[in-house]
Amino acid sequence: MRDLILLKQGEIVLKGLNRRIFEDKLVANVRRRMAPLGRFRVYAAQSTVYVEPLEDSCDMDAAFEASKQVFGAIAVVRAAAAEKDPDKIFEVARDYLAEDFARARSFKVETKRADKAYPMTSIAISQHVGGLLADAYPEVRVDVHSPELTVNIEIREQAAYVHSVPAPGAGGMPVGSCGSVVSMLSGGIDSPVSTWMAAKRGIHVIPVHFFSFPYTSQLAKDKVTELARLISPWCGRMTLEVVPFTHIQEEIRDKCPEEYFTVIMRRFMTRISEKIARMNGCGAIVTGESLGQVASQTMEAMAVTQECVAIPVLRPLVCMDKAEIVALARKLGTFETSILPYEDCCTVFTPRHPRTKPRLEEVREAESSLDVPALVEEAITNIERIVISK
Ligand code: ATP
Ligand code: MG
Repeated sequence: MRDLILLKQGEIVLKGLNRRIFEDKLVANVRRRMAPLGRFRVYAAQSTVYVEPLEDSCDMDAAFEASKQVFGAIAVVRAAAAEKDPDKIFEVARDYLAEDFARARSFKVETKRADKAYPMTSIAISQHVGGLLADAYPEVRVDVHSPELTVNIEIREQAAYVHSVPAPGAGGMPVGSCGSVVSMLSGGIDSPVSTWMAAKRGIHVIPVHFFSFPYTSQLAKDKVTELARLISPWCGRMTLEVVPFTHIQEEIRDKCPEEYFTVIMRRFMTRISEKIARMNGCGAIVTGESLGQVASQTMEAMAVTQECVAIPVLRPLVCMDKAEIVALARKLGTFETSILPYEDCCTVFTPRHPRTKPRLEEVREAESSLDVPALVEEAITNIERIVISK
């Protein structure tokens, strides 16, 4: 029996007049994810996105897995369509859920009517179909309180749909519905998670990586590319901007006091990210910083780091513990790649005693020996762009 996939819209349903904009984005994102898996009809109706296969060769298992990674849906479920006649609904439920009935010892039927004009009440439909299913599967008893199997029936405009347990969706908002940001992506554990979190809130992300060849190797660049690829099922198509950072780091090493290396380097990253953000119409910069994690992530250091730009700097992980971040990284599947032992530019020329409470005037004074605008310009001119697509 050919089935279909239903994605239940999440927060979008709370939107007012502009709800259509969010819904259209969600449908477009689902369509893009389904495109490589066969020909599907994808459309929205009644707070749900429908994914209907148009040919037998559609890869429904892959489509279902992909659905779980689309931000904007709170639940996803595979369902079978039936004519809106209680006896037809029973036949579909009997056949479509035969395997579930073979495993369960008890069941109940639960009906929802999105079509309020339907002549039978939800309870009447459940009783009718439940009675027929009890006859068809006499070894599975009816238990309305804690059944092992719940047969869900949804009466909608065009058809009735039958399914068992829905899977959790990815939550959040459709990517692209809440603007774009530049997300600073290192090879570490944190920034793939912060990038993913930004995308979860409906933001299109442009990942930016600062690359200090030959102090950091091609393997380090490959690792960041792989991390971007690993989160792309959720984030959508992205262009990774690889910024050459060697000259800047050498200038800092040669001309600035060692205790300020890190904070000055991070100010350069922030300035360059701001430029890239402006060039691409992005509204903010995202980083993977978490309060107090290392010397450069004290409140004082963060303040000095962002003082040189006017654009907001968002830090989705700011109040998360390392253990919580690691747990999320494992869930996303980025952790194993993040811990591969390649250098990041932050670990090149690390000061022995970094200042945890840098003073802005001293940092400005230390920077005055550098031609900041020229170094920023040079880095921007030589950016390498890598398209990441799922
Ligand atoms: P991560 O696990 O993301 O590397 P971290 O705990 O190692 O974070 P830092 O190295 O201090 O922390 O970096 C803080 C943030 O600065 C990172 O989360 C990331 O957003 C950004 N960042 C650091 N290094 C780079 C880099 N080479 N390219 C792009 N962004 C970077
Ligand atoms: Mg790092």
